[in-house]
Amino acid sequence: MSGRPEYPLARFQERMDSAIKCTACMRFCRIREGGKGICGNYANLGGKLLNVGYGLLSSIESRPIEIKPFFHYWPGSSALTFSNWGCNLYCPWCQNHGISFSRPPLDEGTRYAPNDLVRMARALGDEGLCASFNEPATQVDFLLDVFSLGKKEGLYSTVVTNGYFSRASLEALIESGCDGLSVDVKGCPEAHARILRGVDPNAVLSNAKYAIDLGAHVEVVFLVVPGFNDDDCCIKWIVEKHVSMLGEDVPLHINRYYPAHKYTAPPTPLEKLLAAKKLAKEHGARFVYVGNVGLSELESTYCPNCGKLLIARSGYNVLAYDLSSDHKCPRCNTPIPLRGSRVKKGRRWRVLF
Ligand code: SF4
Repeated sequence: MSGRPEYPLARFQERMDSAIKCTACMRFCRIREGGKGICGNYANLGGKLLNVGYGLLSSIESRPIEIKPFFHYWPGSSALTFSNWGCNLYCPWCQNHGISFSRPPLDEGTRYAPNDLVRMARALGDEGLCASFNEPATQVDFLLDVFSLGKKEGLYSTVVTNGYFSRASLEALIESGCDGLSVDVKGCPEAHARILRGVDPNAVLSNAKYAIDLGAHVEVVFLVVPGFNDDDCCIKWIVEKHVSMLGEDVPLHINRYYPAHKYTAPPTPLEKLLAAKKLAKEHGARFVYVGNVGLSELESTYCPNCGKLLIARSGYNVLAYDLSSDHKCPRCNTPIPLRGSRVKKGRRWRVLF
């Protein structure tokens, strides 16, 4: 025996002639004996696909749900938020490149058990759990165990994802209790052909639609990156697809990019973001937000029928909440799509490591 830890068997795999295919995400890495998939979390060892990164976490924080962003999901609550290492996409502007471009520290990292996270969430007074910062699909086996346990303990479960889960892992994720997905739609096919080759944005949108069909709550983030996805055609493609595939009620967060990692273009101009918002509204999207600009009126929820301010937000805080208990506008009775209920409490942000 080598003396290596007992890594769990990967749940999502397919045996091939000379390799094993990891089917946790749509990269579908074909991994030969002794090799790892591109995220570094799954390895073919002794003819078995093992989840070598299971429970190896890079950060744990208690965070407001609005920061994900989720604006129509348990407003005012907080989620124990955690990440592992590695990613399945490698965006040159990644804000979290320190963890997403790194590999799991197999020999020296602390391994957490699912129950550790559920206990921490309870101790910190969080209402839920959230896998974020890097791509959750790269730790789906761990998530299934954490979220199932969280469900038994009455915690909600969410992911902030690029939407590149495989269908099988997405189904299992939702089955485990994950009913909130913040999906990052990165660009149109032309943008992907330039910078994120091999990643199909249609597949991301199809997954978001599939998650909705399976009963999950979905919000979409469109980070407008100058020189990647900010031309008129690309913005129009994303807006049209959002409305036609996901529907008018799915919240759309049009967010400002800031330079990070290898990408040095200046931050997205506010006018560009406002023009994208206007286009989305013209296409029928009913809940469009502009984020990362620090303007409360662009982060607040208004009744799409009468224009009443329903949820005022600023800096990830809910300043005012004016919806009936069955989520209707108190002035004109229009139903507002919202999952969960308002949570009122004090401190919602604690960094554990
Ligand atoms: S989870 Fe990792 S190893 Fe598996 S297919 Fe995705 S990138 Fe490849």
